[in-house]
Amino acid sequence: MDIKAIEQSLKQKRDELLHRAERLHRDVHHREEPIEKDFAEQAVELENLEVLLELDRETRVELKNVLEALARIEEDEYGNCQACGEAINVERLKALPYVQTCIRCADAQERSR
Ligand SMILES: [Zn+2]
Repeated sequence: MDIKAIEQSLKQKRDELLHRAERLHRDVHHREEPIEKDFAEQAVELENLEVLLELDRETRVELKNVLEALARIEEDEYGNCQACGEAINVERLKALPYVQTCIRCADAQERSR
């Protein structure tokens, strides 16, 4: 497994996510628009805000996963399932570099939900 390449792509992903989080944060908190609006406009605003907040939340979760994956590379733990400790399938890691569990554990978690 080419850990350097994975680390590289994770770092790129991290920078992307940091950028996006920053932009979303700005959009949510620093909107320079007049407050006086009619109800329909306010409703649309609120909907937009909810979409932004949802994106913001997803971005944070993804960022957390990426940072954890980078930490695991640092500790030489990368590629091991966080649940059972087995090595995660390389193809799975290639597709989802910050995945934390092997396919079996992911399936089991999915089913227990
Ligand atoms: Zn596992």
